[in-house]
Amino acid sequence: MSAAVDGESPEYDYDLFVIGAGSGGVRTARMASAKGLRVAVAEEKYLGGTCVNVGCVPKKLMVYASHFSDDFEDAAGFGWKVGAAEHDWSTLIARKDAEISRLNGIYKNMLESAGVTIITGRARFVNSHTVSINGENISAEKILIAVGGTPYLPEFPGSEHVISSDQVFYLSEKPNSILVVGGGYIAVEFAGIFNGLGAKTQLLYRGEQLLRVFDKTIADFAIAEIAKKGVDIRYQTQIIEIIKQDDGRLQCKLNNGDTVLADQVMVATGRSALTQDLGLENTRVSLTQAGHIQADKYNFSTGDDAIFALGDVIGTPELTPVALAQAMVFLDQQYGSGKRQMSYDAIATAVFCQPNIGTVGLSEEQAAKLGGAIDVYQSEFRHLKHTLSGSDERVLMKLIVDQASQVVLGVHMVGPDAGEIIQGFAVAVKAKLTKALMDETIGIHPTAAEEFVTLREIKHTVA
Ligand code: FAD
Ligand code: NDP
Repeated sequence: MSAAVDGESPEYDYDLFVIGAGSGGVRTARMASAKGLRVAVAEEKYLGGTCVNVGCVPKKLMVYASHFSDDFEDAAGFGWKVGAAEHDWSTLIARKDAEISRLNGIYKNMLESAGVTIITGRARFVNSHTVSINGENISAEKILIAVGGTPYLPEFPGSEHVISSDQVFYLSEKPNSILVVGGGYIAVEFAGIFNGLGAKTQLLYRGEQLLRVFDKTIADFAIAEIAKKGVDIRYQTQIIEIIKQDDGRLQCKLNNGDTVLADQVMVATGRSALTQDLGLENTRVSLTQAGHIQADKYNFSTGDDAIFALGDVIGTPELTPVALAQAMVFLDQQYGSGKRQMSYDAIATAVFCQPNIGTVGLSEEQAAKLGGAIDVYQSEFRHLKHTLSGSDERVLMKLIVDQASQVVLGVHMVGPDAGEIIQGFAVAVKAKLTKALMDETIGIHPTAAEEFVTLREIKHTVA
């Protein structure tokens, strides 16, 4: 195919060329093709992108796997005699791999049946309307950058021995001991996964406040529960050097003078946008200081009229449903009614630690900054299940209410299935529901979730 030349009525190979078949790219390509556009998508690694291959989906499968150790223990209180439990890592990885391959196939079918041309390879801009891929130039009227991100790994002596979230899903053996470095979603989730699977797990965090972007009470409570389950948490701790031993184990020197031996070190210290060597110098697209594509987060335009960008690569919340929503707005604005708007308010999210954090809306700290008085409702209790299981796991629920309007600003929970429970309350927060309407809502008994509609006592007010 020939590269198009900018001109009055350029003839392009495609109407839309999407770079990256991840959450945002697949949704955009598939839906654009369904509208009758000529669409191609380039993917260099795997269909479905991070979420399907090395993110949400395999991670959640591993969270399920790790939870059985608690379940086996809980079962005894209900009269079950469970024999000695043993976990086979290779079975988990093989079954997970089979499921991911199945999903890769589904994505391929979905794209092909929608009429999208899938091109396997790395795309690089030649000019604003042209990319080069596998040595061939392909042109399009519009090009969408949906290339996502990759783990950011700080460098220090011996850092070549660490693994990131990209490798953790493909380890050939389960580590008997692991150091997990970081204090965000991935570090906390994987500390729970390895701990649940029986590995001696340490979580090393450079600061004082793990999960610091969440409501502090909620984060502290979740971390205390994780520690109760056996994760050894070290604050203000960083690895300064790793020396690989003859037996393959990793000797880690810490900034506090300690030395720790572990089978694996997993580093989860954020992600960088995949913008290197994309040929952006051949376009008018620029980058932010943090290395994201400089794009308008409401209409996804870049500095180049022909090029748009969405998903993790533009520095908006790095969540699959955000990339999917952006894709739908982009399609509507470029090829539809133009009425659909992107909103970043009240994005519900979960940390799949054990127990889960589920949260939507403002934290107490964020709400306090708005200036008006807020009422905080809070309840902590033992889950009904644990009255018989004997587990000391606790549940925490918290509502943040604007005192003047009585609108519920935030709903937060730490507890089993908090991720599932909060999805429903996200609709309520999005709809700006008042506390009175929550109070009028009749609960479902006996559930933990009913506590959200029966919280009557204000725990404290922030004036
Ligand atoms: P991606 O899904 O990363 O897709 C980008 C694609 O572009 C990739 O397939 C890549 O190979 C391809 N690509 C890159 N450059 C090129 C190029 N030049 N040419 C061709 N192809 C290219 N989010 C949640 O909502 N819930 C979760 O539970 C969750 N868990 C996560 C767990 C982990 C371990 C990680 C790492 C992430 C998790 N996320 C989760 C985040 C979620 O995966 C991302 O927000 C989402 O995948 C972003 O979608 P995207 O389309 O922007 O990019
Ligand atoms: P996060 O941004 O959540 O957390 C990064 C953590 O790494 C922070 O605790 C940060 O510390 C720490 N850190 C950053 N740089 C360094 C460094 N140089 N040395 C030591 N520590 C450092 O990133 P993750 O990698 O955990 O996850 C990436 C994104 O993927 C998440 O933000 C989330 O959007 C998405 N994700 C979503 C999930 C979900 O929805 N359940 C699950 C997994 C990922 P500090 O706090 O001091 O800044």
